[in-house]
Amino acid sequence: MSLALRLLGTSASRPTVERNVSSVAVVREGETLLFDCGEGTQRQMMRYGVSFSLRDIFFTHFHADHLIGVVGLLRTMALQGRTEPLRLWGPRGATRTIRRAEEFGMDRLSFTLEVKELEPDQCIERGEYDIVPFAADHRGARAVGYALVEHDRKGRFNPDLARELGIPEGPLWGEIHRGRNVTLDDGRVIEPTVLVGPARPGRRIVITGDTRPSPATVAAARGADLLVHEATFGDEEAARAVETGHSTAREAAEVARDAGVGALLLTHFSARYSRDAGDLGREAREVFANTLVGKDGFEVEVPYRS
Ligand SMILES: [Zn+2]
Ligand SMILES: [Zn+2]
Repeated sequence: MSLALRLLGTSASRPTVERNVSSVAVVREGETLLFDCGEGTQRQMMRYGVSFSLRDIFFTHFHADHLIGVVGLLRTMALQGRTEPLRLWGPRGATRTIRRAEEFGMDRLSFTLEVKELEPDQCIERGEYDIVPFAADHRGARAVGYALVEHDRKGRFNPDLARELGIPEGPLWGEIHRGRNVTLDDGRVIEPTVLVGPARPGRRIVITGDTRPSPATVAAARGADLLVHEATFGDEEAARAVETGHSTAREAAEVARDAGVGALLLTHFSARYSRDAGDLGREAREVFANTLVGKDGFEVEVPYRS
């Protein structure tokens, strides 16, 4: 099951020559999920080969640098004759915000637009995984981060032992792997625990959106494979991070360390770091070694850990 995340924009507040404003695409086994949609996101999608045939866009909050690209993207989808419904998810206030955006030509779409408001911890079940929003701490804004949490996978089936026990290969193996007792022709009852190992954890990706470092993020990111955390500022602007409801790279790394994540990916950099975010990476790595500094188009594959 493939799972990859691609940064489409890594600049805070406004685009720069090097970086576009916020958007993240997650592609899981051919399904694309978009998180935030800053101005110009549709062009970034074209540039980096992200499909327009997505069904869901999740907003972390409704500051302009995360939102206003959705008008152009939806208009393009309509021009292309899209008919499949599209769902927009966001924290409370989503409906009012999106309805206002409709005045910019989104009122004549060729497809149904559903807007869904979410409360923190309101789990969205998606078959093989869940999307779980959690409260962000962003200067009083209604803001959430999102965790993509895959369900556990079945344990490993032991084919050698199955043959040794004389269980014929075929449907019975499948039954046992699905956790059912089976009765063989000779009357023996085989319990699945004999042949199937413990369930294996799925993967977890966490995207914070804009936030101060927070215990809610640490909880959501506990054991995550990948944490995408905003890092608007460096150490020298730590006070400004507090004032504006953002994080420094070092603070993002502290969250990553406390949550015990596999890797930290920094994004949402103030324009002053646009050309060179190297200092941010250095400051973060003093706290958490496996830190990646994001740039537009950067893709991370997320493999299973076991
Ligand atoms: Zn922002
Ligand atoms: Zn913001």
